[in-house]
Amino acid sequence: MTRFAPSPTGYLHRGHAYSALTAFEASRPAALESALEPSLESGGRFILRIEDIDRTRCRADYEAAIYEDLAWLGLSWETPVRRQSEHMAHYGAALRGLAQRGLIYRCFRTRREVAWAIESAPHGAMEVFRGEALPSADEARRIAAGEPYAWRLSLGAAERALGGFGALTFHETGEGPDGQHGLIQARPELGGDVVLARKDVGVAYHLAVVSDDALQGVTQIVRGQDLFEATHVQRLLQALLGYPTPTYRHHRLVTGADGRRLAKRDRAQTLRDLRGSGMTPQALRAELGFG
Ligand code: GLU
Repeated sequence: MTRFAPSPTGYLHRGHAYSALTAFEASRPAALESALEPSLESGGRFILRIEDIDRTRCRADYEAAIYEDLAWLGLSWETPVRRQSEHMAHYGAALRGLAQRGLIYRCFRTRREVAWAIESAPHGAMEVFRGEALPSADEARRIAAGEPYAWRLSLGAAERALGGFGALTFHETGEGPDGQHGLIQARPELGGDVVLARKDVGVAYHLAVVSDDALQGVTQIVRGQDLFEATHVQRLLQALLGYPTPTYRHHRLVTGADGRRLAKRDRAQTLRDLRGSGMTPQALRAELGFG
């Protein structure tokens, strides 16, 4: 089973179309001789997931446009569609489990304080943030004062719990940065103590994605190379939560005429606008290499 998991924070563009088509095709029969057999790896199933935990940035009209644009492209997906905002209790339970095992800690720092902690560490000792829980009296005082806090993964505690990160590997069937392919050693330490629950939202991307991929039985993750780094920490979370590890296929990023990767801010490239200007789905599919 593969999935496409957009966040409804803007209209989809060509890059999303490429990603969705790549994931969709990966779930289909791999070769002519197996045309009647769905691809074994993905089991012939494709799901769409709406990643809308950040309610302040997500909009209902963007979500409606996702369904419209993907149907226009010729994709179909299993229903019901999982919308992350409807499952906050599920992520909360995963978070509590990690807290009970001492694998996460409360972080009261502001972004600026986190940046400062990294900058001021001696001799570049800290390139990414690593921290620890406050002494319990301080913590209790700040909680009582109503100060907001995030929950961060403790890499130190995780490393102790697993006896090191050496056994954490994943299979890259596409292409990571610098052509990384095949069996890859996960290096979650590169990301530091990532936030697993944001101050404002109560959960954060890595935890929601890993929980949902496991719950929904996703066996093959197809997504852009921009998320290759995320795979390292997500592999660690899978190990900590006892979840299976899917295979990964990170694909190239679609670039615009200026050679830069497309972003949601490039309005002229949205699928809506392409549709509005009379482009057919066949033409777009062909342009993206899906004949
Ligand atoms: N929701 C994420 C995004 O819009 C993608 C998550 C993923 O594929 O793991 O970039």
